Amino acid sequence: MPGSFKTEAVVLRSIRYGEADRVLHLYTAGHGRVGAVAKGVRRVKSRLGGRLEPLSRVELVLHRGRGELCTISQADTVHAHPTLRERRESLERASQACEAVLRLLDSSEPNPPAYNLLCNELALLDADPARACRSQALAFRLKLLLAAGFAPELASCASCGEAENLGGFSPSAGGVVCAGCEAGSFPLSEDAHRFLVEALARPLSEAPTAPERALAQADRAVAETLEHHAHVRLRRVA
Ligand SMILES: [Zn+2]
Repeated sequence: MPGSFKTEAVVLRSIRYGEADRVLHLYTAGHGRVGAVAKGVRRVKSRLGGRLEPLSRVELVLHRGRGELCTISQADTVHAHPTLRERRESLERASQACEAVLRLLDSSEPNPPAYNLLCNELALLDADPARACRSQALAFRLKLLLAAGFAPELASCASCGEAENLGGFSPSAGGVVCAGCEAGSFPLSEDAHRFLVEALARPLSEAPTAPERALAQADRAVAETLEHHAHVRLRRVA
Protein backbone atom coordinates (compact mmCIF):
# COMPACT_ATOMS: atom_id res chain seq x y z
CA MET A 1 0.00 0.00 0.00
CA PRO A 2 1.45 3.43 -0.91
CA GLY A 3 2.33 5.86 1.87
CA SER A 4 4.97 6.54 4.49
CA PHE A 5 5.92 4.31 7.37
CA LYS A 6 8.47 4.27 10.15
CA THR A 7 10.56 1.26 11.11
CA GLU A 8 13.86 0.22 12.59
CA ALA A 9 16.22 -1.62 10.23
CA VAL A 10 19.70 -3.02 9.70
CA VAL A 11 21.43 -2.12 6.42
CA LEU A 12 22.46 -5.47 4.93
CA ARG A 13 23.91 -4.29 1.66
CA SER A 14 24.37 -1.05 -0.25
CA ILE A 15 24.80 -0.77 -4.01
CA ARG A 16 25.71 2.32 -6.06
CA TYR A 17 22.85 3.48 -8.21
CA GLY A 18 22.77 6.25 -10.82
CA GLU A 19 24.74 9.44 -10.29
CA ALA A 20 24.55 9.90 -6.55
CA ASP A 21 22.10 7.36 -5.16
CA ARG A 22 22.33 4.01 -3.46
CA VAL A 23 19.99 1.03 -3.39
CA LEU A 24 19.86 -0.53 0.07
CA HIS A 25 18.87 -4.03 1.09
CA LEU A 26 17.29 -3.59 4.50
CA TYR A 27 16.13 -6.04 7.12
CA THR A 28 13.45 -4.18 9.03
CA ALA A 29 11.84 -4.83 12.39
CA GLY A 30 8.31 -4.20 11.19
CA HIS A 31 8.26 -5.13 7.49
CA GLY A 32 10.83 -7.89 6.99
CA ARG A 33 12.97 -7.45 3.90
CA VAL A 34 12.69 -4.07 2.20
CA GLY A 35 14.54 -2.64 -0.79
CA ALA A 36 14.96 1.12 -0.75
CA VAL A 37 16.59 3.95 -2.66
CA ALA A 38 18.61 6.49 -0.71
CA LYS A 39 18.64 9.51 -2.99
CA GLY A 40 21.71 11.73 -3.20
CA VAL A 41 23.57 9.89 -0.44
CA ARG A 42 26.82 9.81 -2.39
CA ARG A 43 26.96 13.62 -2.48
CA VAL A 44 29.37 15.17 -0.01
CA LYS A 45 26.70 17.28 1.66
CA SER A 46 24.15 14.46 2.04
CA ARG A 47 22.40 14.46 5.39
CA LEU A 48 21.65 10.73 5.21
CA GLY A 49 24.89 9.44 3.71
CA GLY A 50 26.98 8.50 6.74
CA ARG A 51 24.06 6.91 8.56
CA LEU A 52 23.21 4.32 5.93
CA GLU A 53 26.42 2.30 5.79
CA PRO A 54 26.06 -1.51 5.74
CA LEU A 55 25.89 -3.04 9.27
CA SER A 56 24.28 0.09 10.71
CA ARG A 57 21.14 -0.15 12.79
CA VAL A 58 18.90 2.77 11.99
CA GLU A 59 15.45 4.24 12.56
CA LEU A 60 13.94 5.08 9.17
CA VAL A 61 11.01 6.84 7.61
CA LEU A 62 10.31 5.15 4.28
CA HIS A 63 7.97 6.08 1.51
CA ARG A 64 6.36 3.40 -0.60
CA GLY A 65 5.30 4.54 -4.06
CA ARG A 66 4.11 2.48 -6.98
CA GLY A 67 7.52 0.98 -7.74
CA GLU A 68 9.21 -1.99 -6.15
CA LEU A 69 11.64 0.09 -4.11
CA CYS A 70 10.80 2.40 -1.22
CA THR A 71 12.44 5.80 -0.83
CA ILE A 72 14.21 6.77 2.37
CA SER A 73 13.09 10.16 3.62
CA GLN A 74 14.65 10.15 7.08
CA ALA A 75 17.35 8.13 8.88
CA ASP A 76 18.54 8.26 12.48
CA THR A 77 21.28 6.09 13.91
CA VAL A 78 20.35 3.58 16.61
CA HIS A 79 23.74 1.84 16.64
CA ALA A 80 26.48 2.43 14.04
CA HIS A 81 28.76 -0.37 15.36
CA PRO A 82 31.84 1.81 14.88
CA THR A 83 34.40 -0.42 16.59
CA LEU A 84 33.67 -3.65 14.75
CA ARG A 85 34.45 -1.82 11.49
CA GLU A 86 38.02 -1.26 12.69
CA ARG A 87 38.71 -4.97 13.18
CA ARG A 88 38.96 -7.11 10.07
CA GLU A 89 37.72 -10.33 11.70
CA SER A 90 34.78 -8.69 13.44
CA LEU A 91 33.86 -6.97 10.20
CA GLU A 92 33.98 -10.28 8.32
CA ARG A 93 31.77 -12.03 10.88
CA ALA A 94 29.30 -9.16 10.85
CA SER A 95 29.16 -9.25 7.06
CA GLN A 96 28.63 -13.02 7.16
CA ALA A 97 25.72 -12.53 9.56
CA CYS A 98 24.11 -9.96 7.25
CA GLU A 99 24.72 -12.18 4.23
CA ALA A 100 22.94 -15.09 5.96
CA VAL A 101 19.91 -12.89 6.72
CA LEU A 102 19.95 -11.57 3.16
CA ARG A 103 19.90 -15.08 1.71
CA LEU A 104 17.59 -16.77 4.17
CA LEU A 105 14.91 -14.18 4.92
CA ASP A 106 13.50 -12.57 1.81
CA SER A 107 9.88 -12.16 2.80
CA SER A 108 8.17 -8.90 3.76
CA GLU A 109 6.60 -10.67 6.75
CA PRO A 110 8.15 -9.29 9.94
CA ASN A 111 10.18 -11.79 11.93
CA PRO A 112 11.00 -10.18 15.31
CA PRO A 113 13.17 -13.07 16.59
CA ALA A 114 15.35 -12.90 13.44
CA TYR A 115 15.59 -9.11 13.63
CA ASN A 116 16.52 -9.14 17.32
CA LEU A 117 19.04 -11.91 16.72
CA LEU A 118 20.82 -9.92 14.02
CA CYS A 119 20.89 -6.79 16.21
CA ASN A 120 22.28 -8.82 19.13
CA GLU A 121 24.99 -10.41 17.02
CA LEU A 122 26.14 -7.05 15.63
CA ALA A 123 26.17 -5.49 19.11
CA LEU A 124 28.17 -8.43 20.53
CA LEU A 125 30.69 -8.26 17.67
CA ASP A 126 31.02 -4.53 18.21
CA ALA A 127 31.53 -4.81 21.97
CA ASP A 128 34.07 -7.63 22.13
CA PRO A 129 36.79 -8.68 19.62
CA ALA A 130 36.74 -12.24 21.03
CA ARG A 131 33.22 -12.72 19.60
CA ALA A 132 34.69 -12.85 16.09
CA CYS A 133 35.12 -16.62 16.23
CA ARG A 134 33.69 -19.69 14.58
CA SER A 135 31.59 -20.92 17.52
CA GLN A 136 29.83 -17.54 17.88
CA ALA A 137 29.17 -17.40 14.12
CA LEU A 138 27.75 -20.93 14.18
CA ALA A 139 25.54 -20.23 17.18
CA PHE A 140 24.15 -17.21 15.34
CA ARG A 141 23.51 -19.22 12.19
CA LEU A 142 21.79 -22.01 14.09
CA LYS A 143 19.50 -19.57 15.91
CA LEU A 144 18.75 -17.92 12.59
CA LEU A 145 17.68 -21.34 11.26
CA LEU A 146 15.33 -21.62 14.22
CA ALA A 147 13.91 -18.13 13.62
CA ALA A 148 13.38 -18.96 9.94
CA GLY A 149 11.62 -22.24 10.78
CA PHE A 150 14.36 -24.66 9.75
CA ALA A 151 15.80 -25.77 13.09
CA PRO A 152 17.13 -29.34 12.96
CA GLU A 153 15.68 -32.09 15.17
CA LEU A 154 18.24 -32.70 17.93
CA ALA A 155 16.39 -34.44 20.77
CA SER A 156 15.66 -37.78 19.11
CA CYS A 157 16.20 -39.58 15.81
CA ALA A 158 14.67 -37.46 13.04
CA SER A 159 13.62 -40.63 11.19
CA CYS A 160 12.23 -43.01 13.84
CA GLY A 161 12.10 -41.08 17.11
CA GLU A 162 14.63 -43.29 18.92
CA ALA A 163 16.30 -41.37 21.77
CA GLU A 164 19.51 -43.44 22.08
CA ASN A 165 22.57 -44.05 19.88
CA LEU A 166 22.31 -40.79 18.03
CA GLY A 167 25.64 -40.76 16.22
CA GLY A 168 24.77 -39.29 12.85
CA PHE A 169 23.28 -36.21 11.24
CA SER A 170 21.05 -36.53 8.22
CA PRO A 171 20.31 -33.29 6.32
CA SER A 172 17.50 -34.98 4.37
CA ALA A 173 15.84 -36.35 7.53
CA GLY A 174 16.30 -32.93 9.13
CA GLY A 175 18.35 -33.74 12.21
CA VAL A 176 20.23 -36.29 14.25
CA VAL A 177 19.66 -39.96 13.42
CA CYS A 178 20.21 -43.26 15.24
CA ALA A 179 22.44 -46.15 14.15
CA GLY A 180 19.50 -47.88 12.46
CA CYS A 181 18.60 -44.84 10.33
CA GLU A 182 22.06 -43.64 9.41
CA ALA A 183 21.78 -44.04 5.61
CA GLY A 184 22.54 -40.68 4.00
CA SER A 185 23.97 -39.27 7.22
CA PHE A 186 27.45 -38.19 8.28
CA PRO A 187 29.00 -38.83 11.71
CA LEU A 188 28.16 -36.33 14.44
CA SER A 189 30.30 -36.56 17.58
CA GLU A 190 28.88 -36.11 21.08
CA ASP A 191 30.74 -32.78 21.31
CA ALA A 192 29.17 -31.56 18.08
CA HIS A 193 25.69 -32.71 19.14
CA ARG A 194 26.06 -30.99 22.52
CA PHE A 195 27.25 -27.81 20.82
CA LEU A 196 24.16 -27.72 18.59
CA VAL A 197 21.79 -28.33 21.52
CA GLU A 198 23.44 -25.72 23.76
CA ALA A 199 23.75 -23.12 20.99
CA LEU A 200 20.01 -23.34 20.42
CA ALA A 201 19.10 -23.37 24.11
CA ARG A 202 21.31 -20.54 25.38
CA PRO A 203 21.10 -16.83 24.67
CA LEU A 204 23.44 -15.66 21.91
CA SER A 205 25.56 -13.81 24.46
CA GLU A 206 26.33 -17.15 26.14
CA ALA A 207 27.14 -19.10 22.97
CA PRO A 208 28.97 -22.36 23.78
CA THR A 209 32.34 -23.42 22.39
CA ALA A 210 33.59 -26.84 21.28
CA PRO A 211 36.75 -28.41 19.84
CA GLU A 212 37.50 -27.52 16.19
CA ARG A 213 36.51 -30.95 14.89
CA ALA A 214 33.14 -30.74 16.57
CA LEU A 215 32.62 -27.24 15.20
CA ALA A 216 33.41 -28.47 11.70
CA GLN A 217 30.69 -31.14 12.05
CA ALA A 218 28.22 -28.63 13.47
CA ASP A 219 29.05 -26.28 10.60
CA ARG A 220 28.34 -29.03 8.10
CA ALA A 221 25.05 -29.90 9.84
CA VAL A 222 23.90 -26.27 9.70
CA ALA A 223 25.05 -25.70 6.10
CA GLU A 224 23.51 -28.90 4.72
CA THR A 225 20.23 -28.35 6.59
CA LEU A 226 20.03 -24.95 4.90
CA GLU A 227 20.83 -26.39 1.49
CA HIS A 228 18.37 -29.23 1.84
CA HIS A 229 15.40 -27.48 3.39
CA ALA A 230 15.79 -23.76 2.62
CA HIS A 231 17.61 -24.24 -0.72
CA VAL A 232 20.15 -21.68 0.36
CA ARG A 233 23.88 -22.25 0.01
CA LEU A 234 26.05 -20.24 2.43
CA ARG A 235 29.80 -20.24 2.73
CA ARG A 236 30.98 -22.33 5.68
CA VAL A 237 32.00 -20.31 8.71
CA ALA A 238 35.58 -21.65 9.03
ZN1 LIG B 1 16.24 -43.86 13.86
